[in-house]
Amino acid sequence: MTNLTFLSNRKTFCIVVALIMAINFADAQQNDSQTHRVPAKGFAVYSHEGHFHTHEFTRHAVGGNDIQIEILYAGICHSDLHAVWDEQANFGIHTHYPMIPGHEIAGRVTKTGENVTKFNVGDFAGVGCMVNACGKCSSCLAGKEQFCENGTVFTYNSKDYYHENEITMGGYSNKIIVSENFAIKIPKNADIQKVAPLLCAGITTWSPIKFSNVKPGDKAGVAGFGGLGHMAVQYLVDLNVDVTVFDVNDQKREAAERMGAKRYVNVRNPQEMEGLNNTMDFIITTIPVDYDPMLYIRMLKLGGEMAVVGLPPNSNINISKLPLGNANRKIYGSLIGGIKETQEMLDYSVSKNIYPKVELIKANAAEIDKAYKKIIAGEVPFRYVIDMSTLK
Ligand code: NDP
Ligand code: ZN
Repeated sequence: MTNLTFLSNRKTFCIVVALIMAINFADAQQNDSQTHRVPAKGFAVYSHEGHFHTHEFTRHAVGGNDIQIEILYAGICHSDLHAVWDEQANFGIHTHYPMIPGHEIAGRVTKTGENVTKFNVGDFAGVGCMVNACGKCSSCLAGKEQFCENGTVFTYNSKDYYHENEITMGGYSNKIIVSENFAIKIPKNADIQKVAPLLCAGITTWSPIKFSNVKPGDKAGVAGFGGLGHMAVQYLVDLNVDVTVFDVNDQKREAAERMGAKRYVNVRNPQEMEGLNNTMDFIITTIPVDYDPMLYIRMLKLGGEMAVVGLPPNSNINISKLPLGNANRKIYGSLIGGIKETQEMLDYSVSKNIYPKVELIKANAAEIDKAYKKIIAGEVPFRYVIDMSTLK
């Protein structure tokens, strides 16, 4: 009896000691992640009026599974504009200021945590729209981390559940720290100045093309011929699909032809829209402003599929129009793509020399403000990319 009591006391004592050690270890780790925070610098907006300012801040420490990336290039996606101007309230997303956008990131690994196996210091690495997810739910296990049932952590303006709920800061900055599981390997032979937009514009168009199983010989429409749209055209042409491009002006007509599109339609010229109803197997709409989706739904063949990726702030599909407008067509939304799929897209794009058309701008607040104005005015040559090496 005495021996048993002694043993049980000893066991309790051991458990208590182990618990205290575990708590101390967790505290030490937390302190470690706090004391080893990494100073960083980038460009933030302080309010929805949307002017950029140089902004100094800190990022969480490099954990065991993390890599630190020196950002070389950061693409400017139209989603950044929606976020800067707090245009996503309709989707329940509010912008936390100061906010550093940027989810098209290409850079070089400068530090690796002790458990990292995928990267070495000096490798090129990319980060897209996500930096973490639970890895355990059915969406994550299906390789669709963007739909994590426990909450995806997006690259900016997102609560980071894995780092004390801090709000993430994006790629218009000099460095980022990310779990290796959410970093994409960029092949050594990649044209590194052009890679960043693949991490969002590339995967967002690649993913629905695969999801809809678009095949050689199909007829496809690409609505909105900007950063996303011109990637969709290149992937579809590469698949030997007959592509029609829709946009609102004539300036990009030649560029569409050069990329291999069969037709270019300026939707502001009604006569160019004639004869297109019931002709398309697949349509991807990347339009960032309010438009009438029925215009495109009517162009689908019976059983045709339309992927909606553009995020106009106020658009609504009037569902009562669907049974009469063009029934037995499929319409779905698509959000970026999973990590495995992003790696496949990047490897394929580099191997086939499929890149965005980019114009580099200097890492300077006034230059970024100017680029935003040009995007809104429709004067962007497909994608602006900030050359972060010019950050002073
Ligand atoms: P861009 O500004 O680069 O391109 C948009 C293009 O659409 C421009 O060429 C624009 O023409 C054209 N356009 C504008 N109005 C119309 C219209 N009524 N009909 C046809 N074309 C039109 O934007 P991005 O490609 O970067 O992004 C597009 C949208 O996709 C945004 O809403 C963005 O937030 C969203 N997005 C969604 C993602 C997802 O996962 N679902 C991921 C990334 C982005 P012009 O330049 O002449 O105005
Ligand atoms: Zn984007």
